[in-house]
Amino acid sequence: MSQNKQFLSVSEVQQRIISDIKAIDGIEQVALRQALNRILAQDVSATFDTPPCDNSGMDGYAFSSKELTNMDAQQSLKLKIIGQSFAGHPFTGKIAAGEAIRIMTGAQVPDDADTVVMQEHTETPDEHTVVISPVPKAFANVRKAGDDLTNGQTFLSRGKKLSPTDLAFLATQGIAEVKVTRKLRVAFFSTGDELRSIGEALREGDIYDSNRYSLYGLLKNLDIELIDMGVIPDDRSAIEQAFHSAANIADAVITSGGVSVGEADFVKETLEKLGQINFWKIAMKPGKPLAFGSIGNSLFFGLPGNPVSVIATFYQFVQPALKRMKGQDIVLPLSIKAKTSELLKKRPGRTDFQRGILTQSVTGELTVKNAGAQASHVLTSMSRANCFIVIPAESGSIEAGEMVDVQPFEGLIG
Ligand code: AMP
Ligand code: MG
Repeated sequence: MSQNKQFLSVSEVQQRIISDIKAIDGIEQVALRQALNRILAQDVSATFDTPPCDNSGMDGYAFSSKELTNMDAQQSLKLKIIGQSFAGHPFTGKIAAGEAIRIMTGAQVPDDADTVVMQEHTETPDEHTVVISPVPKAFANVRKAGDDLTNGQTFLSRGKKLSPTDLAFLATQGIAEVKVTRKLRVAFFSTGDELRSIGEALREGDIYDSNRYSLYGLLKNLDIELIDMGVIPDDRSAIEQAFHSAANIADAVITSGGVSVGEADFVKETLEKLGQINFWKIAMKPGKPLAFGSIGNSLFFGLPGNPVSVIATFYQFVQPALKRMKGQDIVLPLSIKAKTSELLKKRPGRTDFQRGILTQSVTGELTVKNAGAQASHVLTSMSRANCFIVIPAESGSIEAGEMVDVQPFEGLIG
């Protein structure tokens, strides 16, 4: 299609943006709780085995597997109870042939024992005797020292976004602080003479600036330090001034509006004067125009003005780029397959990001349907949606019952 010659595909633009971006300099050492959701800036290795000692996986009785020699599972085993090992209170004596100790989950298994029978498979005719039936397999129910981590093993790698599990994982090694990449600073503003901020009165033809609120939320979810620069009018010197001060204070600058072909050319002019910017037309819907480049030491993203285009282009291009700047290893949106329950209308030419509602049946089947009117200024369907349905550029309409690619919105599934 000749029209598509001048258009770049979504993945082409993703590749161009991501391959250019390096992780920012700047590392900080933070306490474990502060490390949640931050990006690890170091590899972390174990300094001792975990678990540190053999311990019991069950409440029951510990004894030597030698007691089981030549026994079959039908036979019962009678042992003398000579002591106990509770979590935090290990048994310090010796266990001889014919002897066992009472043991609890997590309690140290003494050197003389290597097998634990669960309590439910025992009887105690008197307080000094345990009768085991059925007998366990040799070495059963013992968690070996080092079977989670061995001393010296690298267990978390640079670039990992630290999850609640990772905090626990670090805690098992007694690690109180880790190095993470510093927080990104992002400045953003809206451009347009028609835009008013909340609290101002609307004049004839005006609308409220809503993009600064979607951007606020999207950036906040990425744990970014925000610099909200408000609305900048369609005015050459105001725009130039805004770009200038934004680039001075931020790692990245994000604007919305004013990048469409033919409109307010001074935005382009200004950017070309201040930095190195590409103006791309992307074969996607919504969100065709995108400006990307650098002003000074800052990266610049000029998003289209329409509210849904802002969210769609942020999700496909800006979020992966910011994650890369933070040093994160996985950056592109997760895509899964779901069955569409209805016809999805589309013309071949551009990649569609249709607003969808994804549901999961009790049997686990994923189904998606259209969330409503798809025009790029309509927030009703965007608000109702919990995913984008991604339909490839060359594809036409999709019949009900076919499988489609779906990107669940971040936050919904992690
Ligand atoms: P533009 O890209 O500046 O031509 O804007 C495209 C459309 O998006 C126009 O209808 C604008 O009024 C609208 N728009 C631009 N910026 C915003 C904003 N910050 N909030 C809401 N709508 C906007
Ligand atoms: Mg405008």
